[in-house]
Amino acid sequence: MSERYDVVVVGGGLLGCLTAWMAARDGARVLLADKDQVNQHASGQNAGSLHFQLEYRMVEAVEYRMVEAGEEAARVAAEAMPLHLDAAAMWARLEDEVGESLGVRQTGGLMVAENADQVGMLEFKAELERSWGLDVRTLDRSELDTVAPYLSRDVVAANLSALEGKADARIAAPAVGRAAVAAGARVCARSRLVGAHRTPAGWDVTLRETDRTGEVRTRTVRTAAVVLAAGVWTTELGRVFGAELPTVPLALTMTVTSKVPSFIPHLVQHAGARLSLKQSLDKTVLIGGGWPARLMRDADGVPQFDRKHQLIPRSIAGNARAAVNAVPALERVPAVRSWVGTTTVAPDQLPLVGAVRDAPGVFVATGGSAFTLGPSFARVLTGLLAGGSPDIDLTPYDPARFTEGSTP
Ligand SMILES: Cc1cc2nc3c(=O)[nH]c(=O)nc-3n(C[C@H](O)[C@H](O)[C@H](O)COP(=O)(O)OP(=O)(O)OC[C@H]3O[C@@H](n4cnc5c(N)ncnc54)[C@H](O)[C@@H]3O)c2cc1C
Repeated sequence: MSERYDVVVVGGGLLGCLTAWMAARDGARVLLADKDQVNQHASGQNAGSLHFQLEYRMVEAVEYRMVEAGEEAARVAAEAMPLHLDAAAMWARLEDEVGESLGVRQTGGLMVAENADQVGMLEFKAELERSWGLDVRTLDRSELDTVAPYLSRDVVAANLSALEGKADARIAAPAVGRAAVAAGARVCARSRLVGAHRTPAGWDVTLRETDRTGEVRTRTVRTAAVVLAAGVWTTELGRVFGAELPTVPLALTMTVTSKVPSFIPHLVQHAGARLSLKQSLDKTVLIGGGWPARLMRDADGVPQFDRKHQLIPRSIAGNARAAVNAVPALERVPAVRSWVGTTTVAPDQLPLVGAVRDAPGVFVATGGSAFTLGPSFARVLTGLLAGGSPDIDLTPYDPARFTEGSTP
């Protein structure tokens, strides 16, 4: 076997690029393989929110804003806060470390409320977040007049987290991928991991590679460790390694407007409606917040992640309505494009991060806001690859927690 690596990273989204970069910087021989192109999937399709306030939860496969899902759901979600705080600090220095713009602006995030129930939820939420170390304060209407005059008069209060903001999903992963290559990692697009066999010292992984002319060849490389950074493909990839990694796929709607003079400096989310919006550095406004799209499935209902998923007009309209309700000036701004992105959450909504118990030498991270959390996931994984003990307690995120007989 001619090719040997310390780490094969599977997936060229933000997480895979960050992990390859950090591991290569640590001196590891790294191969990153993506079955398509770097940043072609969730990492390049998402809203680019860097959000650290607790947001929505999913109950029986339906997403609810936390105000609907209840306080217990919020308490469980809050267990991801150590990762969020770590990620907030990492985003603040990431552009300097990578040496390129990633479109990062941490100019604050507002979660808005329009009625007394939602205000009550914000107060509960702020207290919970503060107990985990996130600095959040509730602004009343008069403070909002000064801080965020663009918000609707129907907004009566908002929680402000100064750490929140945005990064540009179109440029972040490719920039980090270039940094990985500069640090010595090999990055292969159109290279799909299709098989894996254990060896005494790690894994032989088989890659099916398609060149630009469409010719396909298969090669096997030897590696000490494997990182699964495969987003919505995590569950199917886990099976290649004999591991059960349950995840729940979601297809979500995004819309972008035409350019408009800058007037929204914050990330805006809603306590009781599916809404996230922000104005990008190119002056377009990105509107999302969890509105469903149609995930393509086969006749047996099995999701087909490599197919093109479909927009649902009702979601586009509902999302636009929520945006205009919160920021009335958007009524006059043309929407220019909507699209579908796919992502994944774990059944209990906390991320999966750590060693894969049934597959020694294999590590995984996925689930939830993995764009926001990407730097933290990658830092933790790189530490594990180097044989260190993580400085964040990973017990709540143990990938084996859904396996029968597993003890936390
Ligand atoms: C519409 C939408 C909006 C979102 N908004 C936000 C947001 O504002 N903030 C936030 O924090 N999160 C957001 N998310 C979630 C976020 O985008 C994802 O959690 C994150 O991008 C996942 O990154 P990743 O690198 O783990 O996976 P991905 O970016 O999906 O990359 C996985 C890669 O693995 C590759 N792959 C899979 N299988 C194989 C294989 N067998 N061999 C080789 N390669 C393989 C795929 O081709 C893919 O490129 C949003 C998601 C969507 C869909």
